[in-house]
Amino acid sequence: MVKIGVLGLQGAVEEHRQRLRDAGAEPVTVKRPEDLEGIRGLILPGGESTTIGKLMRQYDLLDPVRELARSGTPVFGTCAGMILLAKEIEGEEEAHIGLMDIRVARNSFGRQKDSFETDLTFKGIEGGPFRAVFIRAPHVAAAGPGVEVLSKFQDRIVAVRQGNLLATAFHPELTEDLRIHRYFLEMVQP
Ligand code: GLN
Repeated sequence: MVKIGVLGLQGAVEEHRQRLRDAGAEPVTVKRPEDLEGIRGLILPGGESTTIGKLMRQYDLLDPVRELARSGTPVFGTCAGMILLAKEIEGEEEAHIGLMDIRVARNSFGRQKDSFETDLTFKGIEGGPFRAVFIRAPHVAAAGPGVEVLSKFQDRIVAVRQGNLLATAFHPELTEDLRIHRYFLEMVQP
């Protein structure tokens, strides 16, 4: 079974582990740099990006994860995970992993819409719309030429891919629909 890491410092870790199991992969919770050994892909879960970024620095995970992504291992960021991957975060000086050529805006959908669900079409996924759960979600305010837009909500970009990097502003682990996890696993096993 292919081993996929789930960064386990904070946030929606268990839900991703379950979806990976459902999709036939073996989840490995990553809390220390050693945990990255032997994994073929890595999921960065939702949570609070500032906290996760701080913990990644504290646990010496930021550089190893950046190296892993740079070397071509597929990395999938959901919600806060998208923010961690972005090269630019609006209103903030510093990026975290900073490898994806996107500028993200945090908490984009306003107070009344702190959390909501909607049906989205997602490029590369068959079988009709995907039920997307947004929780204090970011959106992609700008994307470089190498970034493929996979999904939009109204006029806002909410899912992107750049080579081995995949990011969604919503939480695909919170529904039982495995299609986006399977899409990621296909990046792992071409
Ligand atoms: N609002 C959070 C942040 O900015 C992300 C929310 C989430 O991951 N559900 O980091």
